[in-house]
Amino acid sequence: MEELLERLLEECRPYTEQGRVANYIPELAKSDPAAFGIYVIGSEGKHSWAGDCRQKFTLQSVVKPILLLQALLDNGVEAVQSRVGVEATGKPFDAINASDQSLDSGHINPMVNMGAIVMCSLIHGGSYEERFQRLLELTGKLAGDDGICIDEAVYRSEKAHGSRNRALAYLLKSYGLLDGNVEEVLDCYFRACSIQVDCRALAHIASVLSNRGRLPVSGQKVFPSTLSRYVNAIMLTCGMYDGSGEFAIRVGVPAKSGVSGGIMAVVPTRMGIGIYSPALDAKGNSLAGIHLLEKLSRELYLSVF
Ligand code: GLN
Repeated sequence: MEELLERLLEECRPYTEQGRVANYIPELAKSDPAAFGIYVIGSEGKHSWAGDCRQKFTLQSVVKPILLLQALLDNGVEAVQSRVGVEATGKPFDAINASDQSLDSGHINPMVNMGAIVMCSLIHGGSYEERFQRLLELTGKLAGDDGICIDEAVYRSEKAHGSRNRALAYLLKSYGLLDGNVEEVLDCYFRACSIQVDCRALAHIASVLSNRGRLPVSGQKVFPSTLSRYVNAIMLTCGMYDGSGEFAIRVGVPAKSGVSGGIMAVVPTRMGIGIYSPALDAKGNSLAGIHLLEKLSRELYLSVF
């Protein structure tokens, strides 16, 4: 497996020069576009890796499936689905015009910014500090990392340059789709996006989702299989935003990308995969990362189709 990962990584390395590192969050513009790594955890517990797989980066939108999980655990499927729908928007992650009509909950899903901001408001806790702390604990458990924390510089940068997310949140509020104090909900969202991980952590989270909610080594159940089905299904249809259809054809597994260049891919019952390559395509997905997943999927017959 290591040999295969090394070979595919080298084959895909030229693609890292074709994408562009995100710069609308200034701190992310400092990422090294040449960084490239992959980590795989198989269902039998075997770890394999290649490249810069321990380099740290922030979750960004890869936190969205975890936000969804936390909201589902706290409120149940029906309550969450009544607040945010499950259909693909076919629009960019930060689209202002998420619907062509007046906005309602069925027009957004938890994998785009509007939906994820609503998820932050659904997490239980006495204060937003406590709500975020609960999310961080769940993330650490899923990632197999007790010391998980946020990247303060990225958090400050996101918050200082978050006008578009602020606009989205206030739009949700104006349509009655967001409860609570908008600035506090946004602060929770910015913190969530700034949680620091590496490819190993992403592979670990993905392996729990591939393993119907069980942690890889201890077998401890973190959430019921109904929730992994729910989250994996939404990742498959919406996880790569308006690139989800093409990704389903090229790779064929549930996955979530983030603008820092991470991709978390779940191969149900088989493996969890974490990839990092910060140069992005026009839709905000890791360009070399998708090529690497496409090749891996072909070699190992990973597509669920
Ligand atoms: N923090 C980013 C934002 O809200 C996350 C977007 C992404 O990763 N696609 O704009």
